[in-house]
Amino acid sequence: MPLKEYRRKRNLRKTPEPAGTPSRRAPKGATLRFVIQEHHARRLHYDFRLEHRGTMKSWAVTNQPSDDHSVRRLAIETEDHPLDYAKFHGRIPEGEYGAGVVKIWDRGTFEPLKDLDGGLDDGVVEVLLRGRRLKGAYVLVRTRGEGTRSQWLFFRKKRRPVGLCIPNVEAIEHRRQQSNSEFPTPRSKRARRRG
Ligand code: MN
Repeated sequence: MPLKEYRRKRNLRKTPEPAGTPSRRAPKGATLRFVIQEHHARRLHYDFRLEHRGTMKSWAVTNQPSDDHSVRRLAIETEDHPLDYAKFHGRIPEGEYGAGVVKIWDRGTFEPLKDLDGGLDDGVVEVLLRGRRLKGAYVLVRTRGEGTRSQWLFFRKKRRPVGLCIPNVEAIEHRRQQSNSEFPTPRSKRARRRG
């Protein structure tokens, strides 16, 4: 029951948050949703959620996410949230879990850049985000613990510098060999004559 912890933490008669009616898994090839909610709880944080197998996998990011790859944010894994949570914004009343204002900071679709199931197990999640603020490849890397409360780092994947390519030794060698066979060097002509 992926939403058991979510429901246990909340009094769903008192909070406007979604109850999380069981939803069917997204059909294969369907677009997956992500959301980042600015949550003015006791401490301001940003809740990053990725749709996965009928729930939203969730992390509380301790500071505003950045599109600068050198800025790594601490992200604490939190309980799975219902899919409907992707649309939620509003005020969680005083005395309730996570009391405070929730605003949608970013939302959009994403594409896993590697298998999500495996990535969640191995602690390396790579996704291509198509949001209004965050666009591009982002990475979550688990650094400590497992499951809820485990620590991850969230950051933008470093872009390959444009115009600066790492020499492909094999390709260079292949081109060299081809040009040698097309335009035999004087020495190889001589070698052939001699032979
Ligand atoms: Mn939160």
